[in-house]
Amino acid sequence: MANDNLTAVLYGIEDLRLEQRPIPEIADDEVLLKMDSVGICGSDVHYLVHGRIGDFVLTKPMIIGHEASGIVAKVGKKVKHLAVGDRVACEPGVPCRYCDHCKAGQYNLCPDMIFCATPPYDGNLTRYYKHAADFCYKLPDHVTMEEGALLEPLSVGVHACRRAGVGLGSKVLVLGAGPIGLVTLLAAQAMGAEQVLITDLVQQRLDVAKELGATHTLLMGKDESAEDVAKKVHQVMGVEPDKSIDCCGAESTTRLSIFATRSGGCVVIVGMGSPEPKIPLINALAREVDIRGVFRYCNDYPAALALVASGKVNVKRLITHHFDITETAKAFETSRYGHGGAIKVMIHVQPRDTNN
Ligand code: NAD
Ligand code: ZN
Repeated sequence: MANDNLTAVLYGIEDLRLEQRPIPEIADDEVLLKMDSVGICGSDVHYLVHGRIGDFVLTKPMIIGHEASGIVAKVGKKVKHLAVGDRVACEPGVPCRYCDHCKAGQYNLCPDMIFCATPPYDGNLTRYYKHAADFCYKLPDHVTMEEGALLEPLSVGVHACRRAGVGLGSKVLVLGAGPIGLVTLLAAQAMGAEQVLITDLVQQRLDVAKELGATHTLLMGKDESAEDVAKKVHQVMGVEPDKSIDCCGAESTTRLSIFATRSGGCVVIVGMGSPEPKIPLINALAREVDIRGVFRYCNDYPAALALVASGKVNVKRLITHHFDITETAKAFETSRYGHGGAIKVMIHVQPRDTNN
């Protein structure tokens, strides 16, 4: 094995460096992965720009990256389901497996979760990375490494749709057509939604949503009142949506998601904006509109993989840019400023398509 373990390390605000790190030693229940594709997520950019997200504060250098796929290079003694050479998607959060939440099957709520590139834990934009083997999912031969990396955001979309109870015939409103809104759109369609209307402030993002099969798109003005836009949503859809999924988290989108949802329906909040937004709570309670949160995903990777492997969902259109790990700074700049209509920026740790 080569000694090159080039790694992208965030030292602090606006201080992302490439440096050599030792190749990790694995425990009996872990695998060593030769990383392949790592997508940049809004949260990675947020740590670069602000050094924190809420209570998660960068206090020491942290390896960045968490939307990843790689090739198994070594297996621990206890690992039965993976072998050297397997191509895998890597679910980035590893819970304790012992607490009440873990035992109840809601491991995304585990207080001891170790999550890639959430301080203080290292991520996986590096050539060699070790991970809990049971959080690695073997990819079928026809699923690409890039698609494997995209299972991370897609799992958020699957989880959001499951939380909303999207099913056959659902009429869904998705707020925000960023990567998360778009994967939520894809998941909702695959789960049987009859209509999906997606909103954004940026027409170019809505154009992508339309290409991906959104039945309706609605360009919002920044200063429109949520009540007025809710009426427009009803007009365009011809019905009131029974599920609204806020993939933006601005106060205005959360307000709109409540006003627009039909009585007895469900609002799911995925986007993280203001911690205490002004929302029409009495309107929601008087119409029995349920408001639910989403935190990452839980047991959703297998479903996300099945959607991609079966061809029901095509996530590839989300990728707009490709960079080599040596171009990490440029990749982050492209994602941060949305250069060239960037949606999902993919970093290749191996030369692109080496392992497809
Ligand atoms: P993004 O910033 O790329 O996308 C947000 C989109 O919303 C953009 O296209 C933007 O133009 C649009 N937008 C902004 N204001 C709007 C408005 N008033 N009305 C309609 N659209 C508006 O971000 P993303 O990567 O797609 O992530 C979306 C959100 O989801 C972020 O807040 C992120 O932190 C959050 N997130 C949450 C979880 C979770 O577990 N809950 C997981 C992943 C991401
Ligand atoms: Zn736990």
